[in-house]
Amino acid sequence: MAAAWEAITALASGFAVTFKHLFRKPITEQYPEYKRPLPVRTRARIILTRDPDGNERCVACYLCSAACPVNCISMQSAEQENGRRYAAWFRINFARCIYCGLCEEACPTSAIQLTPDFETCEPDVLTLVYEKDRLLVDHSGKDKTYNFYRYAGVATDVGDKGEHFREDQPVDTKSNLP
Ligand code: SF4
Ligand code: SF4
Repeated sequence: MAAAWEAITALASGFAVTFKHLFRKPITEQYPEYKRPLPVRTRARIILTRDPDGNERCVACYLCSAACPVNCISMQSAEQENGRRYAAWFRINFARCIYCGLCEEACPTSAIQLTPDFETCEPDVLTLVYEKDRLLVDHSGKDKTYNFYRYAGVATDVGDKGEHFREDQPVDTKSNLP
């Protein structure tokens, strides 16, 4: 008897919610004329940002590519004369991207960032393969002040690698090899 009563009250409360909504005014958003403002941390189109000095932040470390669960990031690293690394080319296949944000989490230089721009649909799927010229922007994105090269990875006027304040000696990656 108790179970039957419980089922009736559950049904009644469900129908009450439905009944309440019958008399509500419908809300229709006139997209694309009206675009609802999205939170700044919305995960959609990916960009490659620049540091506050206007230089490319990406040091082509491949961490984003390694973290990506669908393998949609690829690049080729290169080095400038002053030892600063950069991506000679950088490619993201947005047709495979699931906008999980793991690449942004993995990036040590704050270079790769997801933005709220979700309007990236294309009739031709191949145009969803973005090369560096379509990814690189002229601003710092969400992180306006961070400048990786001010803190690590390159010799400066103040000292060589590992000689700056509270900086460890660079790791010789070849010493980790078996
Ligand atoms: S958001 Fe996720 S799936 Fe898309 S490129 Fe980054 S790591 Fe890969
Ligand atoms: S975007 Fe970031 S994580 Fe990816 S290669 Fe460049 S510096 Fe490394």
